[in-house]
Amino acid sequence: MEYKDKHNAAMQRKKLIVDEQIARAQQERGVLILITGNGKGKSTSAFGTAFRALGHGMRVGIIQFIKGTQATGEVIYLTQQHPQLDYHAMATGFTWDTQDWEKDKSAAEEAWIQARRMLADPEIQLLVLDELTYMLTYEYLDIADVIQAILQRAPRQNVIITGRGAKPELISVADTVSEIAAVKHAFQDGVKAQAGIDF
Ligand code: ATP
Ligand code: MG
Repeated sequence: MEYKDKHNAAMQRKKLIVDEQIARAQQERGVLILITGNGKGKSTSAFGTAFRALGHGMRVGIIQFIKGTQATGEVIYLTQQHPQLDYHAMATGFTWDTQDWEKDKSAAEEAWIQARRMLADPEIQLLVLDELTYMLTYEYLDIADVIQAILQRAPRQNVIITGRGAKPELISVADTVSEIAAVKHAFQDGVKAQAGIDF
């Protein structure tokens, strides 16, 4: 048999399976998506989904739990273009040389108040909690509180959490989990971080 014929037969079988899966997926509810791992692409994936939702006219909330010293292109663009976006960034700019556990903890708690408000708001159809995992790693926020607020959120709301080292409790409550592996990164090869690609 030629490859072409084998391919067509395989595609026929695949179509039957996919059609069956589509027919089975009938639930309509908000999902919790977790994008973790050491590879590049976590925050950009979350922001890509925010663009997708905004394109459908949905209300979107974004909270950045670690604000770098430089504004990222996606935040500049989104906050300028979109009135249906509710954006909040943690108060302290996070740098490795100004770490102060007490100060960072109170900034995290303040950002978490905004997160709780948005989680309870049924008008917000997608909520991005960017870099939330570190708030749990560094024990700025209590994991039980975070999970409870997420589970009790507005029922149709979708939530995306990003950050490395997601705790097993978070993986367990998430509906969709992607772990991005760091196969290689240009920075390790000495390439400087650049606007439009890295921030
Ligand atoms: P991005 O915002 O580009 O999607 P990310 O959210 O997956 O990245 P973070 O850990 O939040 O990753 O770090 C963001 C910054 O660190 C970006 O400038 C990104 O290019 C860089 N970065 C991400 N992963 C790596 C890596 N494995 N090695 C070096 N730099 C990285
Ligand atoms: Mg990130």
